[in-house]
Amino acid sequence: MTCLECKNELSHIELKNAIDAFGVALCTKHQLRLNKLILKNKTPKEAIQLYYGLKEKNVNPMLEWWDGKKSVDIAISRVKLNIEIDTEYNMLTHEQALNDLEEAMHSFKNGFTTIKIPNDLVRHHFKETVNNIMGIVEGLNTNIKKI
Ligand SMILES: [Zn+2]
Repeated sequence: MTCLECKNELSHIELKNAIDAFGVALCTKHQLRLNKLILKNKTPKEAIQLYYGLKEKNVNPMLEWWDGKKSVDIAISRVKLNIEIDTEYNMLTHEQALNDLEEAMHSFKNGFTTIKIPNDLVRHHFKETVNNIMGIVEGLNTNIKKI
């Protein structure tokens, strides 16, 4: 196995550590870099897996992208798509729901589309989740071309 970032060959222990911590293959250097990002932003593990899944599809995703107000889990800037991984969706209060709606309004006003994906979906239906996001990217791309 090689590191997804630098393509360096991974040792057995490096690979094991990376899979245990992030669920993706990364060398020690890139694991440390990712750890810093996670500590700063509380990035869910599923966001990292999804990021690398999308990266593999060549859509140039960005992990923890700063939109001017907050850090977005994953952004695909070419089509102005923000992806948030939801970890507390089964405990959603009215207040949170209203906050979500307000955030969605702000992003639409700025021409961004925000989708929320439950972390369980990434965990249990990874391929379908990636494929559906690819479909959304294609759809957004077509709409951009029309303008
Ligand atoms: Zn690396």
